[in-house]
Amino acid sequence: MQSLTVLGATGSIGASTLDVVARHPDRYRVFALSGHRRVDELARLCVRFTPRYAVATGEGGAARLRELLREAGSRTEVLDGESALAEICAHDETDTVMAAIVGAAGLAPTLAAARRGKRILLANKEALVMAGHVFVSACREAGAVVLPIDSEHNAVFQCLPPAAQADARALDAGGVRRLLLTASGGPFRERALDDMHAVTPDEACAHPNWSMGRKISVDSATMMNKGLELIEASILFDVPEDRIEIVVHPQSVIHSMVEYLDGSVLAQLGNPDMRTPIAHALAYPQRIASGVGVLDLPRVGRLDFESPDPRRFPCLRLAREALRAGGGAPCVLNAANEIAVEAFFEGRVRFTGIAQVVERVLGELPAPGAPGDVAQVLDLDAQARAHARAALERIPA
Ligand code: NAD
Ligand code: MG
Repeated sequence: MQSLTVLGATGSIGASTLDVVARHPDRYRVFALSGHRRVDELARLCVRFTPRYAVATGEGGAARLRELLREAGSRTEVLDGESALAEICAHDETDTVMAAIVGAAGLAPTLAAARRGKRILLANKEALVMAGHVFVSACREAGAVVLPIDSEHNAVFQCLPPAAQADARALDAGGVRRLLLTASGGPFRERALDDMHAVTPDEACAHPNWSMGRKISVDSATMMNKGLELIEASILFDVPEDRIEIVVHPQSVIHSMVEYLDGSVLAQLGNPDMRTPIAHALAYPQRIASGVGVLDLPRVGRLDFESPDPRRFPCLRLAREALRAGGGAPCVLNAANEIAVEAFFEGRVRFTGIAQVVERVLGELPAPGAPGDVAQVLDLDAQARAHARAALERIPA
């Protein structure tokens, strides 16, 4: 029986995780759940999954959750305060942590899980991009196992030789030449270029293949999501930037590929439904049912591929540059992007302004050294956010 903590239980990945878990009550017990603003939903999940602990991080959330749970007669204990997220991850009675908080807020609890050697199902790519090697070393020191949830990285993982699944440092010995990450191209792959500045948040969130949270949906539309995933792949699989290629594949049926020295290319296919990578990571190295329907290839009909258009997707170039620059540049890229996307939702910057903000901040903080510990990561993150806020003042809304 695995005892599971779900960070970000009220989000899109959280919901898909609990959907899979509910299909296997004999294998998984929910130990703790966290949510931020949707306290009513969190309360409903507590009643359904009876975790021992729940954490509501939004303002006034804990008090409201306590009240709702008392009314419902739930025995779940509500924990308070900043440290509560780390506490439910590091607790002796949980062995697996689903890291599905969006953005930098997920870093501290995910690191707490790493330091206690937990099995980490990693959806929160921003935490990995900002903390990179600090996170990887914490995992290595404590023996934490990281299983990627991002569909591309999960696909790559599935296509790797077993020795490289156990330790990314064995990729070369396993004959791996390159990783090929697929990208749908998002909702604006074919939109007129001179119309891109007028894109609205709702249009940006209407992804053609995947249903996801709003921040990652905008990242998919700018393709910053693929940029973050490029960095994520480089860190997780210990592969340099020039051995990771991005291929646009509008059907989102091939979730990514691994190319070997002998010319073989292994791919993982499936319907675009996050319950597949989630079930894979939950059960690894076994397989369990996920609720995802069979892939009907005749109905899919064809699989198309193209190279990403650099004029349409400048964020992809910025992410590559940040990865090549190394050190703290990926952390700066991520922080600037989080601020720019937030501003886009609030109507303070245009869609095309997101890349402009990120580019400016990268230019203003060139080649920051690699943060050596979490305090340095958070410090650099804060600096980059301040620069991004200042840049927003200078970029027309
Ligand atoms: P979402 O917006 O649907 O959910 C985010 C979750 O994080 C919610 O539970 C929310 O309560 C919590 N949260 C938000 N701000 C918080 C804060 N400041 N402190 C604590 N908790 C906070 O997002 P999502 O689509 O589920 O994505 C979650 C993560 O998974 C992201 O990092 C995303 O990039 C990654 N991911 C998502 C998908 C997908 O298909 N949705 C695919 C791959 C990777
Ligand atoms: Mg992905």
